[in-house]
Amino acid sequence: MTKNHIRVRFAPSPSGFMHLGNVRAALMNFLFARQKQGTFILRIEDTDVARNIDPEARQIISDLAWLSLTYDEGPHKGGPHVPYYQSERANLYKQYLQECQEKNLIYRCFCTSEELEKRRQRQLALKQPPRYDRTCLKLSGSDIDAKLAANTPYIWRFKLDDTKTVSFYDLAHKTMHFELKHFSDVPLTRQDGSFTFLFANFVDDKEMQITHIFRGEDHLTNTAVQVAMFEAFNTETPVYWHLPIIGNTEGKKLSKRDFGFSLTDLRNSGFLPEAITNYLAIIGHSVEEEIMTMQKLIETFNFEHLSSTGQIRYDFEKLRWVNHHWIMKYDTTKLTALCRPFLIQANPAFEHIKDEQLATLIGHIQQELVTLQESADALKFVVERPHIESQLLVDHQLEKYKPFFKEALTDIETLPAQEAAQTLSSRCKEKGLPLKDVFALVRIALTGKPQGPQVKDLFGMLPGAEVQARLNVLKGS
Ligand code: GLU
Repeated sequence: MTKNHIRVRFAPSPSGFMHLGNVRAALMNFLFARQKQGTFILRIEDTDVARNIDPEARQIISDLAWLSLTYDEGPHKGGPHVPYYQSERANLYKQYLQECQEKNLIYRCFCTSEELEKRRQRQLALKQPPRYDRTCLKLSGSDIDAKLAANTPYIWRFKLDDTKTVSFYDLAHKTMHFELKHFSDVPLTRQDGSFTFLFANFVDDKEMQITHIFRGEDHLTNTAVQVAMFEAFNTETPVYWHLPIIGNTEGKKLSKRDFGFSLTDLRNSGFLPEAITNYLAIIGHSVEEEIMTMQKLIETFNFEHLSSTGQIRYDFEKLRWVNHHWIMKYDTTKLTALCRPFLIQANPAFEHIKDEQLATLIGHIQQELVTLQESADALKFVVERPHIESQLLVDHQLEKYKPFFKEALTDIETLPAQEAAQTLSSRCKEKGLPLKDVFALVRIALTGKPQGPQVKDLFGMLPGAEVQARLNVLKGS
């Protein structure tokens, strides 16, 4: 590995699901690694038991595979820094903690969370920035010994040099400066002896020789104190990109309440992985072409000209638009295989339709599909006779066209599908009737809806006798 070799990582907590912010962070790390011939690492940050919903991070691993964001080092893959689960790396953190102790970079803090909270409230009331007041930094050796002898629980804090300003380079914000006097001395451990996110995350980034850290803007203040740790260990600080937070349509941070926030929601409602990564790569940027393959994104994504700060708006309609484009790009065989589970879920009768026949059906509705799930609604009429709203027929002026249907439908009764559709259309023209109106009524009779597949296709999508039976409604009594 050369000194300039780029190493990036996606470091999620196994919270059980990926949200779009996670996916975007993973995607940007992946694109950067691939563009610069670097290494993309997956590291599972599972030191916080409370957030450890999916202990082996199976969901995250399968989501990354589904999105084609393949990593080069990580769980099940191995690499020079195994293990890639932080819960299995405690010995390393202990060594670092010891080194910090030897270098006199840390001190024990015996303050209880109630005391800390009280002081914090007091500081807020006095309009002071809430920071740890360093009570325990002032303890004498004998005070500490006494507390230890009494088994008083404690945590280790990293002492920040409050006379210093730390600086680091961010691809979007450029050089950033933070005065350490505004920060609390960083907790490195919890009272149960486990390690905090801030510490484990720093140790691993240093050990794994991470060169660039791309993560959400919400980590900006964490970065400031972690840079102080890199400096205390005389290690070159990585380059950062603090990705803008994705906001909902009201401008608030996207949350669980917003539909489409969770990747599982999107997958279960028939969004394609290519569409999701494509969409997340183009939001917040001006791009010449909007529909791009992963390869194209790797080649063209411009990390030198990033939209600086601010929020990115989650535009669900745009995502739907991108998804439709990707659906149109798929060949019908592939699309059919993907739609089949959605169809069967909606109606088990779809199980009996053979691949070839189903592919023909899908081919007829492909251009109206926005999500895979919509195929179930679009093809429902094939396995279920539709309930026809009489008002719909009234609205589409059935009365006016009844005489025409009475005559024309009798004429086409015995014709094969293609010919029947053609004959109906020429009869309509002969009579000078608007094809659009007549065909809307035919569609209502066959599918229950005025819009949908072309009539010439519709005639072939159902058995001949079924077509005739459904069309009877247009003749009236
Ligand atoms: N575990 C952290 C998170 O999920 C990682 C942040 C980072 O990328 O450093 O927010």
